[in-house]
Amino acid sequence: MTCPICGTGFLLDETQAPPFCSVRCKQIDLGRWLDEEIGLPHEGEPDPEMLD
Ligand SMILES: [Zn+2]
Repeated sequence: MTCPICGTGFLLDETQAPPFCSVRCKQIDLGRWLDEEIGLPHEGEPDPEMLD
């Protein structure tokens, strides 16, 4: 299968962090979600995307 983070092809039996090719890619994905969750609009600037 293909790693959704780096696009590398790998075998599910060989990875330590499915569905990613490596623990590193798993952490990248986790960090990406955390960034979106914690990401706050700049103070004093209303973010139009937050209204959706
Ligand atoms: Zn990867």
